[in-house]
Order: sequence, then C-alpha cells, then structure tokens
Amino acid sequence: MNNSNIPNQEKSHPAFEVYKVLDKGFIRLVDCMPSPCDPNSISADDAIAQMARVSYGGGTDKKRDNSGLINYLMENRHTSPFEGVVLKFHIKMPIFVERQMSRHRTSSQNQLSARYSVLPNDFYIPNPDRCQGQDVDMKQGSCGHLSNNEKISKSINEESNTSYKKYEELLEMGLSRELARTVLSVNIYTEAYWMMNLHNLLHFINLRVSPHAQYEIREYAEKMRETVKRIAPITLNSWEKHVQKSISFSKEDMSIIKECSNVDIELIKNKTEELGWSKRKTDKILSKLNSLS
Ligand SMILES: Cc1cc2nc3c(=O)[nH]c(=O)nc-3n(C[C@H](O)[C@H](O)[C@H](O)COP(=O)(O)OP(=O)(O)OC[C@H]3O[C@@H](n4cnc5c(N)ncnc54)[C@H](O)[C@@H]3O)c2cc1C
Repeated sequence: MNNSNIPNQEKSHPAFEVYKVLDKGFIRLVDCMPSPCDPNSISADDAIAQMARVSYGGGTDKKRDNSGLINYLMENRHTSPFEGVVLKFHIKMPIFVERQMSRHRTSSQNQLSARYSVLPNDFYIPNPDRCQGQDVDMKQGSCGHLSNNEKISKSINEESNTSYKKYEELLEMGLSRELARTVLSVNIYTEAYWMMNLHNLLHFINLRVSPHAQYEIREYAEKMRETVKRIAPITLNSWEKHVQKSISFSKEDMSIIKECSNVDIELIKNKTEELGWSKRKTDKILSKLNSLS
C-alpha cells in the first residue's frame, strides 16, 4: 500500500488498474479466469466462444467467428458460456454500499472483520454537492441543491469523528472489538474481496449503473464496467447492444402500440435489405412486428 492507502497496481495489464472511488475508497481487479496476463491463455471473449462451441460438437453448420457467436449467444439469452469467465475484485467501500453489494447473492465474498481488527478512522463524507434533498418522484433517491449543503457535509464529518472517538473510548475501557464497533455509523469504510462470474456481473452492472441505483454504488459499478471492457470487449459491446440498451414491451404496451402506430412491413423489409441484414435477422424483427398485428 502507498501513503494514500490505495494499493499499487500489481499487474501490467490495463484491466488491473486501481480505481479510486468516492473520497477514500477504491476498486481493483485482483484475479481473472482466464488470465489476461498469461501468454498461454486465451482471451475471455475467446473462452466464452470456446465454451459455447462444445454444444455443437463437430457441428454441421459453417463456423461463425467468435464475435458473431457471442452476439448470437447474447441475443438469444444463451447465458451459460458467459459463466466461464470469473472476475475477483478487491473493494474498499462504505458499509452502506457493501450492504447493497451483498444483496447480489450470486457473488462470493470475504470481508474485513471488525471482530478481529480495529477499524481505521475512514468514513465516507459526501461532498457538499452530493448532500441533496429527498427526491419526491423517485422515492428512494435524492435530488436538487440544498443551500445548507456545506453545513450538512461538515455535520456528517463531525458525527463520524464523534462516533470514532466513542469507539476508541469503549476499546480503551476494555470492551471487545465485536461490541465496540456497534457505535460506528454505516458510512465507515470496509474492505472485501468480491467475486462473480461474467454472466452475473453483467446483471449486477445493469442494475447498479442504472439511475435508479444510489450514486455511491453506481460509482463502483461503473468501474467494474470499465474493467469488463478491458477483459472482454466483444462481450461488453454485445451486451450493451442486446441487453443494456434494448427494451421490452409488456402485453399492455404492445396493444397500445398496435392501436396507435402504423408499421409498414414492406418499408422495413426494404430497409433491412438495403442494410444487408441476413434473412434470419430480418425474419426475427418481422416476427416481432407481426406479433403486434
Ligand atoms: C435500484 C434498486 C433498489 C433496491 N431496493 C431494495 C430494497 O428496498 N430492499 C431490498 O431488500 N432490496 C432492494 N434491492 C435489491 C434487489 O431486490 C435485489 O436483491 C438485488 O438487486 C440483487 O438482484 P438479483 O436477485 O437479481 O441478483 P442475484 O442475487 O445476484 O441473483 C441473480 C439471479 O439469480 C437468481 N436467484 C438468485 N438467488 C435466488 C433465489 N434464492 N431464488 C430464486 N432465484 C434466485 C435470480 O434469477 C436472480 O435475478 C434493490 C436493488 C436495486 C437495483
């Protein structure tokens, strides 16, 4: 560790960059299967394609390239090959962020124990701009500007210091670490190793980069997305195209669309032909549109 308590990058591959997050946190990849640092190992994108190809054995079809295959898997929600890539992160985050992280049950994790160790005096202090009011439209969220935001940020800082002083006092009085910690607030930082396969990680990123997720966890999820981009760029691109930036309609939505819009099937056929779409791809969009009529 260097002076700022942020670990140094230990491996040369860019995916192992250490990202500083919030005021005192960080996130870094510590391990990955397959390893991008091993010259004898295939890339994560190739590992996904390799895993999928076992389904076809010798096969009868002409072989797609890996990028085409990944697109096909993603588009058709053939998800298990993406479970063949596993990423392990080292994360320093406030306890209230860790609580949200651990709701994702498909992660495996191990966390710093405040029963074994005395926690350092590291609290997340939201900067004044982040000290916003209660959002009325999104009931869980915050929004807007508060004129007393400087005072609020300072007050959170003072309260955190007071709780840490009490923690030290209780330890001094001989109280066990496991009970002394109960006076600390949920903005104190903790550290964890957090591991997930790529299928579940993309699901996690989808939920936690969303504007509905809290700003603080979004900051970590964004860095995870950056890491995935460096580990499996073809997969990330395909996921953005077929999952993250795609939308679905309910039966109710579809009946409104059917009633209020005029879909010109011939025009769409001409357009897909002009774009050089395959028959399979064209048939797929046409069958979706036909289900509206
Ligand atoms: C914006 C936002 C607000 C939230 N607010 C709240 C809240 O107010 N209170 C609260 O308690 N939680 C809240 N959550 C947490 C949320 O309900 C989920 O627990 C969390 O997002 C994990 O999602 P997941 O279950 O899909 O992921 P994972 O736990 O990683 O599971 C991935 C998938 O595996 C399957 N799976 C895993 N475990 C089981 C199981 N036991 N049974 C069946 N299928 C399983 C499911 O298909 C699941 O989608 C919130 C999450 C978000 C993103």
